[in-house]
Amino acid sequence: MVRFLFLLVMLLPAYARASDSEVLRHWRVGQTVSEAAVTAYGEERCFAVVEIPDSILRLMQGRSLPKECRTDVATLRYLRLLHRDAHGHIRLGEMVCHRDVARSLVSIFRSLYQQAYPIERMLLIDRLGADDEQSMAANNTSCFNFRRVAGSSRLSKHALGKAVDVNPLYNPCVRRGADGKIRVSPAAGKAYADRSLPTPYRLLRDDAAHRLFRSHGFQWGGAWRSLKDYQHFEMP
Ligand SMILES: [Zn+2]
Repeated sequence: MVRFLFLLVMLLPAYARASDSEVLRHWRVGQTVSEAAVTAYGEERCFAVVEIPDSILRLMQGRSLPKECRTDVATLRYLRLLHRDAHGHIRLGEMVCHRDVARSLVSIFRSLYQQAYPIERMLLIDRLGADDEQSMAANNTSCFNFRRVAGSSRLSKHALGKAVDVNPLYNPCVRRGADGKIRVSPAAGKAYADRSLPTPYRLLRDDAAHRLFRSHGFQWGGAWRSLKDYQHFEMP
């Protein structure tokens, strides 16, 4: 009996490690993982830049990569990232961006993860109908989407993979329409146009996200005069 218990105690940690690393061998985005799983797999490996895998390309085609897309897929990269939500849970995230900003984004999001800066969701917009409004309402942090600037015919920096929206539900875009009325995107985030409302996902000037993005050369939409896009960082 004693020998059996001894064997069990010896085997349990090994089994736990195996199952934890098993979770991370099959990167299931959106899934929560333990601190132990990250350690077993290696935090370094959880922040990776790769060329767009075939399975991801198929997911993007007809969605964030519509037929009229003029962005060369060879300029895009797929990022695997970790982030923590406001409850401190570690989640597996992903992002597609331009290769020129890939290393910066990995560095920024790794620092935010290490500082436990809360980010609720980090999925490709293709998993949310490639619909900007739906993605923003789901508070989804994302980058690439071949689309025009809302309310204009100009291509967005998101169409190049050089702009990131962070926690968009709680950091909406606020602009005045041609009719003089104030428009808030996403509509579900209307209450958060009031920047004095405290929420765990509120992005403020000089907070960790703002400082990191700025230090890598990104501009913040919350500092613009014509409109206030509190979720938005872009590389000029
Ligand atoms: Zn944006």
